Amino acid sequence: MDILQTMQNRSAIAKKRFGQNFLRDESVVAQIIQSMPLTPHRIAEIGPGLGDLTKYLVDVKSVTAFEVDTDLCKHLQHQFADAIATNKLTLRCGDVLETWKSALLDEPYDLVANLPYYIATNIILKALADPACKNMLVMIQREVAEKFSAAPNERAFGALSVITQSVADVSIVLHVPPTAFEPAPKVDSAVLLIRKTANRKDEEFEEMLRSAFTQPRKTLYKNLTARYDGAVVTQAFETLELERTLRPHQLSTSDFHRLYALLQ
Ligand code: SAM
Repeated sequence: MDILQTMQNRSAIAKKRFGQNFLRDESVVAQIIQSMPLTPHRIAEIGPGLGDLTKYLVDVKSVTAFEVDTDLCKHLQHQFADAIATNKLTLRCGDVLETWKSALLDEPYDLVANLPYYIATNIILKALADPACKNMLVMIQREVAEKFSAAPNERAFGALSVITQSVADVSIVLHVPPTAFEPAPKVDSAVLLIRKTANRKDEEFEEMLRSAFTQPRKTLYKNLTARYDGAVVTQAFETLELERTLRPHQLSTSDFHRLYALLQ
């Protein structure tokens, strides 16, 4: 059946394997548009779906959109024929992760998207490393958004928070209930604003973070001595005047960088 005829029943066309939960609450779309960073950059949208966000994005900026679902792609080509003809929209059909090498676009861009949740963390980490990506405004699962934005001592603070906050300012700008989508997801969502100040690149630093948070309830000291020489860790803790009883979530992002420098 033609997608245009089934638009009234989004649940019927949604493909679970592509993480399709279509945004139907126009007020949420409006708040996303209002929260967009004011920059001259092109917009990259991953997963335009039925075009509910895309139709507003092309009104304000030039957009490149990546859609894996060939049925939706055909629909978008038809719906946005004018925007495509006038180069306001470039549509790329296929899996974004397969086409994404070191840079997603060959010009600076801001990522604005209601992301497919099954690959959202992967996409954000790739965009943090991508020098062409300047900012992100992305809807993801709320619990995951909190891991990116958490401050030290908060329950969700972990390796993802430190990795992201080392190269960006991060905040949640909107909480979105399941009822804003069709079909409704089983989880709450949130819109995350990530303003990059640098590009993620230090793999060894991230390895250290993974060790630091391997067992979050254990002490940071114990987690680190599983990877590093005990005497080196002891010396680093003494230099930074850190208590051995500290849990990993109690350290700040800048303390993690100081610790890393001493462990090298
Ligand atoms: N933007 C639409 C909206 O807000 O209603 C749809 C969002 S829906 C949560 C996620 C979209 O990402 C779907 O259109 C899905 O087909 C697409 N998608 C899933 N995996 C993808 C991939 N690997 N590459 C490109 N698009 C993908």
